[in-house]
Amino acid sequence: MHRVTLAPELSPVASIPREVVAVCFDVDATLVDYEASTRAGLRELLGTDDAWPEWCALTEAHYARYLAGQVDFDMMRRHRTKDFFACRGEHLCDGEVVRREERRAAAVRRAWKLFDDALPCLRALRALGMRLAAVTNAAGDHQRAKLGALGLESTFDAVLISGELGVAKPHRAIFRRACSVLGVRPAQAVHVGDRLDTDAEGARDAGLHGVWLDRSGCGALPHDAGISVIGRLAELPALLTRHAGGQLVAQTTAQWKPALVVD
Ligand SMILES: [Mg+2]
Repeated sequence: MHRVTLAPELSPVASIPREVVAVCFDVDATLVDYEASTRAGLRELLGTDDAWPEWCALTEAHYARYLAGQVDFDMMRRHRTKDFFACRGEHLCDGEVVRREERRAAAVRRAWKLFDDALPCLRALRALGMRLAAVTNAAGDHQRAKLGALGLESTFDAVLISGELGVAKPHRAIFRRACSVLGVRPAQAVHVGDRLDTDAEGARDAGLHGVWLDRSGCGALPHDAGISVIGRLAELPALLTRHAGGQLVAQTTAQWKPALVVD
């Protein structure tokens, strides 16, 4: 069994309930190295990824419109690319926007990769008997292609994608749906993700235990936030077992079947 030690300086600020039997994961920037692949897309277009901060700012604005249902996923990506070049003083026709976005997207797909700590964490949690879900904000076909390319298509007991469900994190409905599919109560589930608001706080507000994956270690969190913080996924199994007093090892998924399959 994979075992890790929780670094003392990263001790969580909230307790994980002993009854936790399921773990939900955000995908991008949590399991998948989103920055590496996105930077590869910029290098494909510009020969450099120096514009990463500008791209991130544009992504925040355009992704918010997508999640609000104001534009579909493919159109969002085209609008973002069009705006990106317009901000650099290059005003593209629609055909050139499509060509550049296709080149960028292909480069991003070629650069998809998992963080080094992702698979060991998933395997360790499975060995503990945890039920596993992916809960992610994206288009269904895009995100399922990513999970498949990374060999994760059969890793999870449930995959919940906002583009397929019509509801996105941080709305409590997507977290509650994940728990329903996994056959657990919200209090029996943890959700871990790189975004404090979308992932950890959203999960907490839905009744799950929120875990914020702060890989940079730069984030600040009020002590009464009711959220745990980890710096690497390698800390998650130890976080759960420490608070469970070892009881989680006795849990098993052998008799468990998902209540509902989302596909
Ligand atoms: Mg994320």
